[in-house]
Amino acid sequence: MPSLPRFSPLIKSLSNTHLKMVITHYFPIFAIFFVISLLSTPASAHLYSGVEDTEGISNDWFPEILRVEAVARLTELGKVSDADGYLERTYLSPASIKAGNLIRGWMGEAGLRTWVDQMGNIHGRVEGMNASSRALLIGSHLDTVIDAGMFDGTLGIISAISAVKVLNVNGQLGKLKRPVEVIAFSDEEGVRFQSTFLGSAALAGVLSVSALQIQDKSGVTLQNVLNENYIEISEESFFQLKYNPESVWGYIEVHIEQGPVLESVGLPLGVVKGIAGQSRLKVTVRGSQGHAGTVPMSMRQDPMAAAAELIVLLESLCKHPDDFLSYDGHCKGITVESLVGSLVCTVGEISCWPSASNVIPGETTFTVDIRAMDDMGREAVIYELSNRIHQICDRRAVSCSIEPKHNANAVACDSGLSSQLKSAAYTAMKRIAGEVSNDVPVLMSGAGHDAMAMSHLTKVGMLFVRCRGGISHSPAEHVLDDDVWAAGLALLSFLETQL
Ligand SMILES: [Zn+2]
Repeated sequence: MPSLPRFSPLIKSLSNTHLKMVITHYFPIFAIFFVISLLSTPASAHLYSGVEDTEGISNDWFPEILRVEAVARLTELGKVSDADGYLERTYLSPASIKAGNLIRGWMGEAGLRTWVDQMGNIHGRVEGMNASSRALLIGSHLDTVIDAGMFDGTLGIISAISAVKVLNVNGQLGKLKRPVEVIAFSDEEGVRFQSTFLGSAALAGVLSVSALQIQDKSGVTLQNVLNENYIEISEESFFQLKYNPESVWGYIEVHIEQGPVLESVGLPLGVVKGIAGQSRLKVTVRGSQGHAGTVPMSMRQDPMAAAAELIVLLESLCKHPDDFLSYDGHCKGITVESLVGSLVCTVGEISCWPSASNVIPGETTFTVDIRAMDDMGREAVIYELSNRIHQICDRRAVSCSIEPKHNANAVACDSGLSSQLKSAAYTAMKRIAGEVSNDVPVLMSGAGHDAMAMSHLTKVGMLFVRCRGGISHSPAEHVLDDDVWAAGLALLSFLETQL
């Protein structure tokens, strides 16, 4: 990048007056050269090493739009927050409205017709050659968690807008053989109303109308929030949000991986084969509350020690399901092998009563989160876990209850869309790096995404983008500029198959 050393010999040789004149008259010219050189400066080509530098980039594949501008927009959105000092953008908050307006402006500039629906989702659509054909939907979410990173959700929206913009600049937007619609969903994280996928579930027709009456922490209902933002919604208009499945061809989504696999294999993009099903349980263990100094160890009914044993049991069961489950008996027909690769189990929250250092607790409660691609396998794990929990509790003379809190089946991505996304990702990597010796990795998503809700409406496909250290839901979340470029190029390549 041009900087002081390049100009300093010239400046040194001038008097103060001359210097002022040079600065006054020529600074704007220098500034323009500086900006042009920034835009055209060769940047990183270290696609596979994950190293960013400023050499060796090809200008053939729209780096100004797909890399420089996309990164600038992601950075700009990353500053649109309701909080000071960290990123927080929950459903229809002032920052969400501001982010939505920015996104809508960028959609319009990319040649899309835009509108906001009655759940606050932002849409941008182009009809292409045949407005009555089934539409390709491309989306992700604009809301964030609290103290979020700037790529989760927004990367999918910005990549889509950038890819569409390239088609527009090239005069190809009107040549699409089917309508293409980019959607920025208003809520995926579920922070404000503790109900995920409000935006996409409404379009997919799987959100209950009773959701309009759920309240946030301050007692404001979803309907109130919409009304406050000049969005009138009735039960009747709520049902009209649902897309007709006959009008939709498919849904694709680009999202950061939020895990370490792509980084570990050194590739920027991967194809998602499916989104894991998920169960959440609440386990309560009740024992005998007592004095920490006076109750002999042999006479205790300690729910904390019991909970510890149960948590270790869960870890063992999920690490080695093949040691616990068999092909006969209750899990007959389950492919235990299919669980081994995808099963993950977590205890993320634990509490006890009365929670004092000199008291044997009377009650301990903990959560269990179980995810797997195989729904029957997940059910078999829960069945086995429940049996063994009760056995351990009986042996320890404590009482246990297991309460199911949430259940969602796994979603398989469409094989046709996945193979198209795979070749689009391959093309993108090849366009940036020249040669690609590796195959595009195929991954499972352990996290839920809007694609999960959209799968109730149409076939879905997803692309994952490498993120540093696999870190997400954190300000440390980071995607290389080159990987932002790769994501935009992959979507562009996918859209080229629709011409
Ligand atoms: Zn997300």
